[in-house]
Order: sequence, then C-alpha cells, then structure tokens
Amino acid sequence: MRVLMIAPPGAGKGAQGALIAAHFGVPHIATGDLLREHVARQTELGQAVRRQLERGELVPDTVVLDMVREAAIAAKAAGGGYVLDGIPRNMTQARALYALGLELGMTAQVALHLQADDRELMRRLLARAMLEGRSDDTEEVIRQRLKLYHAVTHPIVAWYGERGILLSVDGMRPVAEVSRDILAALEAMHHRLPPEMDLASLGPAFGHASREVS
Ligand code: ADP
Repeated sequence: MRVLMIAPPGAGKGAQGALIAAHFGVPHIATGDLLREHVARQTELGQAVRRQLERGELVPDTVVLDMVREAAIAAKAAGGGYVLDGIPRNMTQARALYALGLELGMTAQVALHLQADDRELMRRLLARAMLEGRSDDTEEVIRQRLKLYHAVTHPIVAWYGERGILLSVDGMRPVAEVSRDILAALEAMHHRLPPEMDLASLGPAFGHASREVS
C-alpha cells in the first residue's frame, strides 16, 4: 500500500500514519520526525533547519526532498509500500514527489486528507505541548503552522482530487473512530487494486470522484 497524508498540524497524522504503516506492514516515513532526529543528533542538516522548525516555518524543499528520496529508495528495497507523513507541503513538493514516484515506479495510490477545524487543532496542540514539550507547540508557532497549512499546503488537496486518488476523512472524532474508518476505506481500496496500479490509472469509474468518509 502506498499512501501519502495531507493534514493540518494536530489533526493526528502522526498517530494515524504509524497505525496505517503497521497495519499494512510498510515503512512510516514522517518528515517532521526525520528532521527532529537530525536536530536532536545535531547533524549538519539538523543545525541548518533547527531555527525553521522552532519557528514553524517550512524547511527548504530540496532538504526534505533529498531526505525523502533516500527513504523512498529504502522503502522500494523493502517491498515498495510506504506511508508518507508530512510531505508534500506545497505544490513544488507535490510535483517533485510525483516525479520521484514515477522514476521509482511507486507513485502514491491514495492521498489521505484528514480534516479538522482550527479551534480543535489549537486545542489539541496546546494539550500536546503540555505532555510532549515539542519546541514548536507554543501558541504563536502553532498559529504560524496553521497559517502556512492554509496558505500553501491545503491547496494541493484539490490536485489529488483531480488525479483521482483523494480520500478525505473527518479527523475531528476520537482517534480510534478515525483510524477504524481510515483502515476500512484503505482495506476496501487495497483489495480492488492490483499491487502496482494507481487508482487514477483505473480511469474515471474508479478514481475520479474523491471519496468522503465521515
Ligand atoms: P506538524 O504537522 O504538526 O506541523 P510535522 O512533524 O509534520 O508537524 O512537521 C514539523 C516541522 O517540520 C514543520 O513545521 C516544518 O518546519 C518541518 N517540515 C516537516 N515536513 C516538511 C516539509 N515537507 N517541508 C518543509 N518543512 C517540513
């Protein structure tokens, strides 16, 4: 199964991504986690991006794309499935990722969009800040991350709709309910998909309307 996730901060993409990956036995490639690991290990890359992470800004496209290329090559060697979490975050990344997928013969079969409104996201992120102490979970930085999400990330959802691989799920409900719906929808698709085929390549009957699960 090859899934990418698009969701605002706090919608639960980390938790759901890990769950989907475990369910299908594929690697969970989370760009935020990879970047935070670099920061913690104080690698050169980590030092270069630390300020951007702390401020809730996007790190340069080339940095994440290089990181993801490496992870995608490893995923291909491990069987070809993946759950991508945290990328793409803008149209440039979306196009570059598609090109990489074509090059490696592993374009995403499903773009999973988790929806939630800003008030709920802010509530969840502030609660998480108390528990985890992530340095970008302060109110000011959360506002910046949400603003960026609406300005540059959310617009790419429509592009996946046009490609016929969009699955939209209401992420405002309890985590267990959301994951149950996601896994049910993905399982249903998985059984109908030959392993190396995209939803879009099956044509309009299969893919062109986006699915809504709520
Ligand atoms: P969230 O979705 O809660 O903002 P992530 O863990 O996905 O959390 O990302 C944390 C931070 O890592 C982002 O605010 C950004 O600075 C950086 N980041 C992660 N993925 C990308 C990406 N694809 N492009 C640019 N920056 C990224």
